[in-house]
Amino acid sequence: MTTLHDLEQVLGPIPLGPWVGGELRAGDGTIVVIDPATEEPLTEIADGTVEDALAAVDAAEAVREEWAATSPRRRSEILRRTFELMTERTDALARLIVLENGKALADARGEVVYAAEFFRWYAEEAVRLTGTVGRAPGGANNIMVLRQPVGVSLLITPWNFPAAMATRKIGPALAAGCPIILKPATETPLTALAIVAILHEAGVPPGVVNVVPSSRPGELSSRLLDHPAVRKVSFTGSTEVGRVLLAHAARTVVNTGMELGGNAPFVVLEDADLDAAVDGAMVAKLRNGGSACTAANRFIVHAGVATEFSRRLADRMRLLAVGPGLDPGTDIGPLVNAKTRDKVAELVTGATDEGARALAGGSAPARRGYYYLPTVLDGVPADAAILDTEIFGPVAPVVTFDTVDEAVALANRSEFGLVSYVYTRDLRQGLAISERLDSGMVGVNRALVSDPAAPFGGTKQSGLGREGGHEGMVEFTESKYVAVDW
Ligand code: NAD
Repeated sequence: MTTLHDLEQVLGPIPLGPWVGGELRAGDGTIVVIDPATEEPLTEIADGTVEDALAAVDAAEAVREEWAATSPRRRSEILRRTFELMTERTDALARLIVLENGKALADARGEVVYAAEFFRWYAEEAVRLTGTVGRAPGGANNIMVLRQPVGVSLLITPWNFPAAMATRKIGPALAAGCPIILKPATETPLTALAIVAILHEAGVPPGVVNVVPSSRPGELSSRLLDHPAVRKVSFTGSTEVGRVLLAHAARTVVNTGMELGGNAPFVVLEDADLDAAVDGAMVAKLRNGGSACTAANRFIVHAGVATEFSRRLADRMRLLAVGPGLDPGTDIGPLVNAKTRDKVAELVTGATDEGARALAGGSAPARRGYYYLPTVLDGVPADAAILDTEIFGPVAPVVTFDTVDEAVALANRSEFGLVSYVYTRDLRQGLAISERLDSGMVGVNRALVSDPAAPFGGTKQSGLGREGGHEGMVEFTESKYVAVDW
């Protein structure tokens, strides 16, 4: 059995509460962190208050100019060192993620590698943030454009990737020269707190990185977005909360970055290599137990191959071991909490009531922990709620199409537009379809699209802005045009 105490022997002490200006604060009351595999409390942390959050803004604002003036090389070295420390401690961080989030250890290890990569990538990018100088069209003067840090940034992250969703924001913010206040998900604050401790060990000066876990996120964000020193909110989470934050941000015209919900279509054309498509479906559906914004949510399969595709997918899913994430051999861990598990169960019941058939799974196993069996549904009616809702669990509804135009129309029939997948042996066809799919990212014969070096983000109600790549760092800057006569 792995305990928090064991992990702290490797990771060092995890600050169990708001960490502001390099110091732990007492908060008010506690947040109980639950192990989703057992439904038992793991630990308690101090619950951050509005006062803690305002103190974090003061701490960040106090070092803002100094951090912005710190050489890009120095910022880069701190990020690089953080990458190295995280990499050395991959196993302990992965186990910490499993304890509070539930996912299978292999998924958690993959997350730590992905999360650490944001520090390596932005260590490399920090020294490449440049503006431009060009001759004005009239020829009389030059136009100089500087890229300056946007300022104190509020980062709010979800529970599904407790490490990566934090580092995908912290890396570019620090690279660009912004001090931050991180508000991690209430369900999974420990991983973020451990990473913040590592950042300090790597040399981040006190005040540059502050973290305020809190069970009162709405109150905190509302006060912070009204604060004149807070110049950016970068949010990853549900579209519902994103809309609330956008409305708040409108009051003070705060710069926003929004990584919101998804409802990814996974299109399998008639000529697809079915082995590759099923392999891809397993990854796109089950990475992180299905709790991913990039998770394939609707399998849109040509009518000529749909029966075979569904059968093979169900055969593969039935072989998976569902159990505690830390057990060797577990493929699929529990969902994060009862609410998430119950929502998945409700969507499946709704679909089967409307005529869908479960070829695999279709229920929650009778055991403690928030488990749901990997499920394949065929015969799903086109108007079933499960096709319009982000499932966030290991359930694969399959619908069929006859023509490519019909497949594209079905794929685009969603208020979300984060990512789409298409499988075909005809690459020209795959690329042509990728241009027609209304989403910020497309996987062509590829089920894993996330890459720290690439711009991640969505169209429609999946969000605004991009994270990762060079764009991710530019999002934490403002352009300043300086007109100079010379
Ligand atoms: P959530 O929106 O419930 O919570 C996300 C974060 O916002 C948490 O830290 C939460 O405490 C905080 N929060 C909740 N209410 C708030 C409020 N009123 N004001 C300010 N903050 C508030 O989402 P979740 O359940 O933690 O995560 C699942 C969602 O996240 C899914 O919709 C998923 O698609 C989305 N997600 C998107 C991406 C992406 O990159 N687009 C990545 C991961 C997850």
